[in-house]
Amino acid sequence: MHEAMLWLKEGNKIRCELCARRCLIPEGKEGFCRVRFNNNGTLYTKNYGKIVSMDVDPIEKKPFYHFYPGAQTLSISSVGCNFKCQFCINCDISQTDKMSGKTYSPDDIIKIANDKGIKIIAYTYTEPTIFFEFAYRTSRLAKRYNIKNVFVTNGYITSEAIKKIGKYLDAVTVDFKASGNTEFYKKYMSVPDVQPIFTALKNFNKHRVFIEISNLVIPGIGDKPEDNHKLVEWIMDNLDSSIPYHLLGFTPSFQMTDIPPTSLEILEKFATDAQQVGLRYPYVGNIWGSRFENTYCYNCGQSVIERTGTFINTMNLEGNKCPNCGFGINVIKD
Ligand code: SF4
Repeated sequence: MHEAMLWLKEGNKIRCELCARRCLIPEGKEGFCRVRFNNNGTLYTKNYGKIVSMDVDPIEKKPFYHFYPGAQTLSISSVGCNFKCQFCINCDISQTDKMSGKTYSPDDIIKIANDKGIKIIAYTYTEPTIFFEFAYRTSRLAKRYNIKNVFVTNGYITSEAIKKIGKYLDAVTVDFKASGNTEFYKKYMSVPDVQPIFTALKNFNKHRVFIEISNLVIPGIGDKPEDNHKLVEWIMDNLDSSIPYHLLGFTPSFQMTDIPPTSLEILEKFATDAQQVGLRYPYVGNIWGSRFENTYCYNCGQSVIERTGTFINTMNLEGNKCPNCGFGINVIKD
């Protein structure tokens, strides 16, 4: 049991200020995530340091295509989530009440990363906001060792939380489902409002956190072209045309095993539309064999990074510039 960060007392209840649900939690009760609970007027987190998954993954798997391409990450997670997606591929660890996991300290995580020669820690698999205290302390320590920190997040995080961790966070991938369609979020994910995700994106941008965005396209129920178009326009208007944008194929899982995987055709259609609206780097992911797996120079069309799935075949960049025309590509690398 570990005292939580980011909460306020409201009478004899507690207002959690970590994620955009802002649960008002009565004495002896838990918030929506079932991880944070009010014990005698103090908010505690039950999953602190309980690492339920730890693996070494290529950063492309998160997905990040423009942040240290080809790097390995030490990827960690704890139990819990603030969403209830009916199609969650990690439902065994995101939707369980059992606070399982082996106990680690932030120093342990840094030591493991250093021993393996890994320079990036990814807080992923479940929602990192829901193991915020451990992610915060680990990322703060990581900075002292010149290790980068990345969140793979649903974006349902408050501005207070971003303000706290922003200076230690190097990059985020914010993962939309069904292009952020409000009705879809309500019906299939138990999320009342998508607006906080857009606010969080602006906040990450304000704190100079490198941003990539993904969008899971679900056949039949979460594949409206107009929603994809709207999301792309929002990115163009509020962030930047050079934000990498990943269109991800759906995998049948959890309570949605009756829906087929997304076709390559629809993902490429969405990527083509994103490109026509003006996004420079649309990608197709979770399906191999698309021309949208590669990075091309926006100016001259030269192929600068070629990938197969999450593997890099060739990288042809001079610093972060196109070797053919010298145009700057929005890539962070050594
Ligand atoms: S993290 Fe979110 S879901 Fe969990 S208690 Fe806080 S506001 Fe509620």
